Amino acid sequence: MPARSCPPGFADLPARASQWQTGWRTGLATAGWRAGWGKVPKFGHMNRLVIPSPAKINLFLKVVGKRPDGYHEIITLLSPISLFDTVVLAFHQSTTSVECPHPKVPDGERNLAYRAASLFFDALSIDDGVAVFIDKVIPVAAGLGGGSSNAAAVLMGLNQHYGSPLTDEELKEIAVKVGADVPFFLLRRPAIAGGIGERLEACKYLSPRSVVLVCPPYEVSTAWVYKNLNLALTNCEKSFKYRYFQGDLSKVTDFLCNDLEQVTAGKFPEIKIIERALLDLGAETALMSGSGPSVFGLFSSAEVAENAFDSIRGRKKWETFLAELLVP
Ligand code: ATP
Repeated sequence: MPARSCPPGFADLPARASQWQTGWRTGLATAGWRAGWGKVPKFGHMNRLVIPSPAKINLFLKVVGKRPDGYHEIITLLSPISLFDTVVLAFHQSTTSVECPHPKVPDGERNLAYRAASLFFDALSIDDGVAVFIDKVIPVAAGLGGGSSNAAAVLMGLNQHYGSPLTDEELKEIAVKVGADVPFFLLRRPAIAGGIGERLEACKYLSPRSVVLVCPPYEVSTAWVYKNLNLALTNCEKSFKYRYFQGDLSKVTDFLCNDLEQVTAGKFPEIKIIERALLDLGAETALMSGSGPSVFGLFSSAEVAENAFDSIRGRKKWETFLAELLVP
């Protein structure tokens, strides 16, 4: 990976904005995330905003069917977790730019954050630009929604900076044009998503949990997973409905399921090995997130989770994180 450097205009930031990930910084990012944008910590001056941009995990993902346009309809239960990228916005630039010093993430127009910013400016016919700097910590193409989260952070940050000209509904309309998972990140809480992921309902009934996240070292394309999905072989409970998730969800073992796991684990059997390892270390349950290959274990005891994390980190080439569900 190339050395991280601060782009022009960001020189006053810490050399690694991902210092957010260590100790009190993660605590601050979590608090900022929970408190809402008014309390997001700012560096420097008024024209700069630093936004914690969390990962998500899918606790349930059922593929309901395929639409005539080729998109798959799903029902999924998502939760943000306390694993953050840091998105820095420097407002009022002559052009919009996006820089992310990570080898797997495109700079500029191909970055989802760029698309979010241009759609925002287009919607308001504002002739302005923003410089976006992303410190990438969330593993890329790993089923954790990092790109969508970054795009949502840009939309929220811009809307806040310009005095909230767009309503939540209008912001959501832009978000869905960037990607199906982007509207979820605007909600900032666990949610049930239907349609292609854009029909959202907040879910109030998820209990706090510690999360041990294990990411094996390969990228998975979501498009590839859906292309290889055999709907006849999906096995998540057929009768699951929205309303199920508006009841008691304290027993996570009752409902955790992911229809996409058979495809990704078929190609990467290591996913099942990671699940087994997490269960052996005391996880209540373990599952692949989204299209994978990340696997998470849920723990009702923070202490057991910490011990599991200590034991599993450094194994093979797995990247591991200790986090928590960001439930209100
Ligand atoms: P999805 O399920 O939406 O594909 P994911 O969580 O599996 O998401 P991401 O980390 O969002 O994966 O990355 C998916 C692809 O999007 C990557 O191949 C990456 O090159 C591209 N991408 C564009 N912008 C970003 C961004 N800001 N952060 C991460 N990836 C980005």
